[in-house]
Amino acid sequence: MPGDALCWIRRDLRLHDHAALSAATAHHQRVAVVFVFDALILNALEDRDDKRVTFIYESLAEIDAALRARGSRLIVLHGDPVELIPRLALELRVDAVYANHDDEPYAIARDQRVAQALQSQVQSLNTFKDHVIFERQEVTTQSGGDFRVYTPYMRAWRARLRPADVAERSVDDKSFWLNLPESAPALAPLSGYGFQSSELWLKPGASGGRERLAAFTQDLPHYGQRRDFPAISGTSGLSVHLRFGTISIREAVRHAQRHDSAGSTKWLNELIWRDFYQMIMSRFPQAMTTSFKPEYRDLVWPGPTEHFEAWKEGQTGYPIVDAAMRELKQTGWMHNRLRMIVASFLTKDLLVSWQDGEAHFARYLLDFDLASNNGGWQWAASTGVDAQPYFRIFNPITQSQKFDPEGTYIRRWVPEIAHLDSKDIHAPWQLGLMAPADYPAPIVDHATQRALALELLAKK
Ligand SMILES: Cc1cc2nc3c(=O)[nH]c(=O)nc-3n(C[C@H](O)[C@H](O)[C@H](O)COP(=O)(O)OP(=O)(O)OC[C@H]3O[C@@H](n4cnc5c(N)ncnc54)[C@H](O)[C@@H]3O)c2cc1C
Repeated sequence: MPGDALCWIRRDLRLHDHAALSAATAHHQRVAVVFVFDALILNALEDRDDKRVTFIYESLAEIDAALRARGSRLIVLHGDPVELIPRLALELRVDAVYANHDDEPYAIARDQRVAQALQSQVQSLNTFKDHVIFERQEVTTQSGGDFRVYTPYMRAWRARLRPADVAERSVDDKSFWLNLPESAPALAPLSGYGFQSSELWLKPGASGGRERLAAFTQDLPHYGQRRDFPAISGTSGLSVHLRFGTISIREAVRHAQRHDSAGSTKWLNELIWRDFYQMIMSRFPQAMTTSFKPEYRDLVWPGPTEHFEAWKEGQTGYPIVDAAMRELKQTGWMHNRLRMIVASFLTKDLLVSWQDGEAHFARYLLDFDLASNNGGWQWAASTGVDAQPYFRIFNPITQSQKFDPEGTYIRRWVPEIAHLDSKDIHAPWQLGLMAPADYPAPIVDHATQRALALELLAKK
């Protein structure tokens, strides 16, 4: 059996059903697990109490405790992984570093540089698919091309699926490196990485992921009927765990297969959207910085900054939009239906660029994921792959009446209008003189803006 190895965890913060760790522990005598707080990523964050950092930190603490229970521990570095990973590999004299694929453009460039540095030390970087069921060019059209439309992609994805694709990648915990040298840094207090702890509304770590999945089991059969209503918990709430890998995507798919129902079929389709957008990012990385559709690349969105600011603060005068934006800022969460409503409102009512909205979501969303966020924004703005047609424009009032009929969700986040009845709460300005004085009048008229959006987007 070859000598020792490092397993570098990144967006796969668990010790079970883990492709890289499974391969490392199968092939090496001793395996040390390492995480790097990447200074380049952390320094770019605007908030020192960023909830994502707390989630990561708590999840690492759980991993560290599990490793310590087996006589090992987590190694945690802080700085530039391109320097730190090869240096650690040299110090520990490992044969190889194992990691799971990360197809974000930044991660690809980083991993190439790490692989080169390791190679020059006669060590290797061995990487594995783990974050999705099918990646890159695994699901293609019959002629081998890339899919640009979700439904045929979904059908081909399902047709390709075999038990081996979702089988557990089991980890041999007898191979964890016992009594690691003192020189390998341990997990420090969060403040040591320049951050303070932030309150979380969900349990982090693999234990949190498993609890959430188990709790969702009873909702799964009704997913199709309940998934669009933000006032109830009709969706899995697993996106944060899927983002950070505190749950394995294979475990999620196995769960859907085990609890076969119309609800689980629908839910699996959502997981396939996730694979679809990851595939798009890997095959069309330029879409991460510009419109997928070339005809919209030079479009100048004319919406004024004041409207963008009002949207960010939940002060547009449209209650469903304001409730969603306030929840996002306070908790880092927004329901999928609301993400679609507020993204449509920003781009097609306020005529502000989807990139501005994407950046605001990237700052606050606890489940922020480059591929899915970009995909969602470009879908709503009609600039993306398989996007909403440009002439389909959500009416924020009818969306509100349909998906929050009693106004239960709005009342939670917009207390100024909580006293209004379920008929008036969706468009309080229609009360005229009786409209609440402490809540803004609508900053735009939907019908007027709709016409402007049609003109703007049809020109192309
Ligand atoms: C403008 C916009 C921005 C978005 N940004 C993100 C983001 O940054 N990160 C993110 O994970 N999702 C994003 N989504 C997709 C979706 O809103 C969330 O995945 C979903 O709300 C998470 O809730 P859940 O875990 O309860 O989902 P469920 O309904 O339980 O779905 C299960 C899982 O499927 C995946 N999924 C569901 N819908 C989508 C979708 N449309 N696209 C891709 N994957 C999906 C998620 O991983 C989700 O956890 C965005 C959608 C829009 C419209």
